[in-house]
Amino acid sequence: MKHIPLFIFPILFVSGCFGPYIGSVGSTHQHATFKVYLDGNGLNLLNPKYMVKSQHVHMEGEDADTIHKHATGVTLGYFFKTLGMKLDNSCFTTDDGNNYCNNGDKTLKFYVNGVRSNDYDQHEIFNNEKYLISYGNENDSEIQKQIDSVSNPVG
Ligand SMILES: [Zn+2]
Repeated sequence: MKHIPLFIFPILFVSGCFGPYIGSVGSTHQHATFKVYLDGNGLNLLNPKYMVKSQHVHMEGEDADTIHKHATGVTLGYFFKTLGMKLDNSCFTTDDGNNYCNNGDKTLKFYVNGVRSNDYDQHEIFNNEKYLISYGNENDSEIQKQIDSVSNPVG
């Protein structure tokens, strides 16, 4: 029987602490769609400066609704980081440095396929999922309109 050197185990433990393992480029190819609303305004990402920012995950061409995931383990938090933005469970930060944080009746909410989720940045992007990130104090029917505005993934 072969023995695994003991020094390997601390290395594995430490690498596991840095969140989900991101696979190599080309280890998968999946599409999800999303919208971000900040105080009721849709965040406009249809700009060349937001396209193909990473080989692991990106938007491309004239389509700012579709996330192309090209590596296993990629989360929404990772995706927004490639855009110079930040998502966590209480704040959304745009690339121009504006923070939208839980404050009184204004809250940051995250929906997957129309269902409220607490995963936020930790959510791994998966094929055919539709995401809404909404900050503000919109009522249920306004939130539903935002959910319905997320286009269907191309498959
Ligand atoms: Zn693609």
